[in-house]
Amino acid sequence: MGRIEREKKTIDAMVKIYCHDHHHTSAGLCADCLALQDYAHRRLDACPFHEKKPACNKCLVHCYSAKQRERITQIMRYAGPRMTLRYPLLSLFHLMDLFKKAPRLKKRK
Ligand SMILES: [Zn+2]
Repeated sequence: MGRIEREKKTIDAMVKIYCHDHHHTSAGLCADCLALQDYAHRRLDACPFHEKKPACNKCLVHCYSAKQRERITQIMRYAGPRMTLRYPLLSLFHLMDLFKKAPRLKKRK
């Protein structure tokens, strides 16, 4: 599984946990969370680092709009600790990413 694919799965899992607990959805996501998840996927597809992508909270390129950024931060803060139990393997990969140093984009001359 590629870096971006894995990141998408992590986002999906986190949004699912958050939506389930906060919006009381039993299967799938509510419209709001679905839109946010879709937005996150598109940001990932557009990530300039591709497979070298750092963990988003360490990234130096702030590619989310202010509003979406706030929502995803909230979701990650809530779902992050809960991930370990439900998705141990994904969390492990995610933790490893947190220790990697964020690369910088090369300045264009
Ligand atoms: Zn929701």
